[in-house]
Amino acid sequence: TDGRGIFRVYSPEMGSKMRRYHYLLEEMRLALTSQNFSLSFQPIVHVEDCSIDYFEALVRWTHPVEGNITPGEFIPIAEESNLILELGDWIMQEACRQMSAWYNAGMRKVRISVNVSGVQLKHRPLHDWIMAMLGKAGLPAHALMLEITESCFIEASDAVIEQLELLRNEGVLIAIDDFGTGFSSLSTLAELPVDIIKIDKLFIDQANENPKYNKILNSISELGKELNLKVVAEGIEHAEQFELVKNLGIQCVQGYLVSRPESSRNVGHKVLTQNLN
Ligand code: C2E
Ligand code: CA
Ligand code: CA
Ligand code: CA
Repeated sequence: TDGRGIFRVYSPEMGSKMRRYHYLLEEMRLALTSQNFSLSFQPIVHVEDCSIDYFEALVRWTHPVEGNITPGEFIPIAEESNLILELGDWIMQEACRQMSAWYNAGMRKVRISVNVSGVQLKHRPLHDWIMAMLGKAGLPAHALMLEITESCFIEASDAVIEQLELLRNEGVLIAIDDFGTGFSSLSTLAELPVDIIKIDKLFIDQANENPKYNKILNSISELGKELNLKVVAEGIEHAEQFELVKNLGIQCVQGYLVSRPESSRNVGHKVLTQNLN
């Protein structure tokens, strides 16, 4: 106890975690004003001919002293503190701006996909927010996709689902991200306004070791066909994994085997030398 009869639920380890939290939060505020965030782009390709279906925008943070800090570390802090609202505005604006440049350069068949966090779903007026972003960038709605995790979908209010439906009517595509980790029931999946299922990397990793995961992958693939949803497998690193998902009839893959996330300059180079329009 602390001498006043109050138990201190405090340990040195928690202290350092708290310090890191507050440190990163302050540094993120600075990073927003000093332009230390950037976007990387990773292609999602069709299994059939390896043509690009879309690019996922992934935020990157290069800290002046610490170097690269992973989104796995700073996104949860941004979410907990609601700083994800400002950061997410910047990400959406930058993704639309970049996509608009590519679109105007002739890249018409490819779209950009942006991760949207549960905090944004809750606090941003989705339809108006996205439509304003598209308008500002001069980008058609069908060039944008939103990635929303399965667990965010489960927690989403009816009002949020309605906003997503409105956006979908405008032509924006919606993907359910990290699918298989949130345990939504099949009946809710049928009701949700989604176009694409992204199977979490976890299932691909496990499929190597445990044949039960093959069966799960197979049933997700079948489910996608049943519900007329495109299925994407995340985290494909090896040729055997590519063959596996191909044999299961999964349409698209994302992973280091095809490409790591890259800077816009590298992507632009590749894309404009291929025939993507
Ligand atoms: P996610 O949405 O599931 O994104 C896919 C993650 O898997 C990315 O990590 C990507 O670089 C990584 N990845 C892709 N292919 C492979 C592969 O073959 N092997 C391995 N080991 N990894 C692969 P990243 O960029 O570190 O992002 C991690 C997570 O942070 C994302 O998971 C997403 O939840 C979040 N995140 C990243 N960028 C954003 C963003 O702009 N906004 C929001 N709200 N969240 C973001
Ligand atoms: Ca994603
Ligand atoms: Ca994932
Ligand atoms: Ca995720």
